[in-house]
Amino acid sequence: MKHQTEIEKRRTFGIISHPDAGKTTLTEKLLLFGGAIQTAGAVKNNKIKKTATSDFMEIEKQRGISVATSVMAFKYNGKQINILDTPGHKDFAEDTYRTLTAVDSVILVIDCANGVEAQTEKLMEVCRMRNTPVIVFINKMDREGKDPFDLLDEIESKLNIKVRPLAWPIGMGDRFKGVYNIYDENLNLFSANKTKISDEVVSFDDLNNPELDELIGEEPAEELRSELDLINGVYDDFDPETYLSGEVAPVFFGSAVNNFGVKELLDAFVRISPSPRGRETDVKKVEPNDNKFSGFVFKIHANLDPKHRDRIAFLRIVSGKFERNTFYQHIRLGKKLKFPNPTSFMAQDKSVVDEAFPGDVVGLYDSGNFKIGDTLTEGEVMNFVGIPSFAPEIFQELQNLDPMKSKQLDKGIKQLMDEGVAQLFIQQPGNRKIVGTVGQLQFDVILHRLTHEYGAKCSFTPKNYHTACWITSDDEAKLKDFMRAKTGNIAEDKDGNLVFLAETPFLLQMAERDYPDITFHKTSEFK
Ligand code: GDP
Repeated sequence: MKHQTEIEKRRTFGIISHPDAGKTTLTEKLLLFGGAIQTAGAVKNNKIKKTATSDFMEIEKQRGISVATSVMAFKYNGKQINILDTPGHKDFAEDTYRTLTAVDSVILVIDCANGVEAQTEKLMEVCRMRNTPVIVFINKMDREGKDPFDLLDEIESKLNIKVRPLAWPIGMGDRFKGVYNIYDENLNLFSANKTKISDEVVSFDDLNNPELDELIGEEPAEELRSELDLINGVYDDFDPETYLSGEVAPVFFGSAVNNFGVKELLDAFVRISPSPRGRETDVKKVEPNDNKFSGFVFKIHANLDPKHRDRIAFLRIVSGKFERNTFYQHIRLGKKLKFPNPTSFMAQDKSVVDEAFPGDVVGLYDSGNFKIGDTLTEGEVMNFVGIPSFAPEIFQELQNLDPMKSKQLDKGIKQLMDEGVAQLFIQQPGNRKIVGTVGQLQFDVILHRLTHEYGAKCSFTPKNYHTACWITSDDEAKLKDFMRAKTGNIAEDKDGNLVFLAETPFLLQMAERDYPDITFHKTSEFK
């Protein structure tokens, strides 16, 4: 019974956005409501800004901040809320994608002036792969932006999801008067730069009440009435089930920096968002209320002190109860491990936890046992699936500059790949190491760390590849033909899967056309 209660009160989610839409600001306001922090400005922005390579320490410092804010837990309305932080910088997008495998829902922040941006589209693609429930928060309503109806259309067409406004803005920019809460039928009047958390909310179950005209003015009141009529005509009534299945995204409007519309968002979130969900393994689906503990590693963070090569592996608990100092089975290594200091993160504070429940994330100190995607259980042999690698976009060949130090290089590159910093492809002849990433920044990180942490001497040479696709076929002979024809473009990933490296989108298209019996996969998750 207690276990069930613990599960039901948890909400584990991520906030995603294109950089600058207001993710950090919104996170901070949510933490204020939960009392997890006392003052604004306490959540450090973990935006990684690229300046010069010499600024590597700056990147590391910022990565350090992102450790501290990896998981932010707070309590609100009887719920235990875990926000999993996602790096905003596009070069670290893979980190974000993997973190999305550990959440049960997301809040997507959109800037009302910029609408749907490039990074928004990519992140939503990942959410759709997993049918993750999404709530949209349209931010910066205190500024002039796009028409709200146009924004909704843009979200539907570009993000391929239906929307259902549960709040509606009254004007925007200088004319922004507030937000009508469609869900609760009340009106929240805007006053800029609110510093305190207040409840200046007026209930309006009948919008024809002339008091509305007095409160916001005759014209805006009329406009609101007709817009709400339109909304009710155009959109189906809100059905929480369609939200939970990832088909419909409820939409809220507000201004995070002014702490406006945030409470409405949080209240609705607590009411409708899912409690921890089960996860698929290669054997069965594991449900949170299964008695036996299980969990998976979705993120690994290197120690910032190069003298200590230990790392923190972030484990999402899927079922049962995780306990400190208890032996668990590391499935890939086939050995038992116990953890004397599992750590939880509360805003800036870290503390040792004795137990954790489904939906929780704990940090495990690790000296090299973990890779991203690893499963821990009480003994049952199974592996969580659904933590894919994504096709990289930039490729460089790693060259060893000091044959005396190849061991260091091999060890270093292996550990960095375990952390998911980049992907390694081995090409024959000569076991050539091709490193693929989603952003240029990772090459700086890799070179710096190989040199400083592992004492290797190496350099990168750019390779002219556009993408990597995993290839499979039911027809062994056809696959062999293809490999013979494309020898120079074939490599193996870390697990020995075959990969086709294509120089241009056109060459990939040609290959797909000429070899219909071969399937080209954009992510490593195809089994
Ligand atoms: P992130 O990159 O998504 O984390 O965005 P931030 O939270 O760092 O916000 C980017 C910028 O937008 C900052 O300068 C914020 O102060 C500003 N900002 C955030 N919310 C609002 C808002 O509601 N209105 C306005 N005018 N600015 C905002």
